[in-house]
Amino acid sequence: MRNAAWRARWSRAAQATCSLWLALSVAACATATTTPGPDLTATQAIETRVAQILTQNAATALTASAAPPGPTTTNTPSPIAPTASLTPILTPTPEVTATPTPPRNPTLDLGRFPLPPATFGGEPHLFMGRPIGAGGNVFVASSYRYGSTWSGQLETHHGVEFANPLGTPVVAVGSGTVYYAGSDAERQFGPRPNFYGNLVVLQLAQGWQGRPVFALYGHLDTVTVTSGQPVSAGEVLGTVGSTGVAYGPHLHFEVRLDNPESYWATRNPELWLTPASGAGVVALRVTNERGQHLPGMRVNFICSDGARRFLDTYWDTSVTPDDAYGENAAMTDVPAGYCKFETQLGDKTFSLETTIAAGTVNFVWLRP
Ligand SMILES: [Zn+2]
Repeated sequence: MRNAAWRARWSRAAQATCSLWLALSVAACATATTTPGPDLTATQAIETRVAQILTQNAATALTASAAPPGPTTTNTPSPIAPTASLTPILTPTPEVTATPTPPRNPTLDLGRFPLPPATFGGEPHLFMGRPIGAGGNVFVASSYRYGSTWSGQLETHHGVEFANPLGTPVVAVGSGTVYYAGSDAERQFGPRPNFYGNLVVLQLAQGWQGRPVFALYGHLDTVTVTSGQPVSAGEVLGTVGSTGVAYGPHLHFEVRLDNPESYWATRNPELWLTPASGAGVVALRVTNERGQHLPGMRVNFICSDGARRFLDTYWDTSVTPDDAYGENAAMTDVPAGYCKFETQLGDKTFSLETTIAAGTVNFVWLRP
């Protein structure tokens, strides 16, 4: 009964989200048609629109009231408890998946893509909390995930976005030491100076296989820690802003392995964040028959909560797959239970049905 009522409420919220996404899709494609190629002005216009949509989504979701779904497992405690009212942020609708007109194509030189391990699995390293403080939106924006390009219209993304209003506190995802706090106009962390604006780079106390792990917080409005300062998990580091190359207030969040100052050292943050209670992580591979990653592939899936989701495989080799998994797309906070994944390879549709386990990484491999 409670579940049915929740589904109905979710459905209404999802419909509202749907119309926003449809509007965005049209606006973005119209801009791209008139100004193809990497035109900075056009990109900034799209980014402004993106920010508006993200903010609207967050506002809509935060004002909706709905009870959370009952968790399907209880054996994996999580630092966050999601509410159903926020779920629609994660679930764009099929309209946006069906209508993009990319102004550029993904890299198709398969020789440049490393051959992933023959098996798909590995020990999870989901030890990070969320980078947004209490009361903020702690869910990854579905629009512009790691390795994606917003259907070819933005730069390949080296992090993930958390859509939140200006001034929302950002917090340490684990205990550690502040590696850098300040502006990247003075010290470069991105592909060019003043890319992240005010940023904090945190070295986590917990490494991975003897290697140092870093969390990067970009576009901050204020920074309230200093370089070298020890911090504990959940401690406030600053606030959400839009400094640097940002399309409006949001947190840009990255995970870097080994080298905190290299834009090329990123990994997919969704494979490091502890999933929400009752949810798991999907690590996805879409490959050809030889096991080589296929870039820019759209994978649609539908899961036990009835929500439609999609992932685009990493668009090019500027982002690095997880060292343990060799995935080419990933998503956290996928509800435990049934999911069906589907993608188009040439004129054939490939699909896979599986059961998502909560609190861990679930491996899904689509191939001929
Ligand atoms: Zn970003």
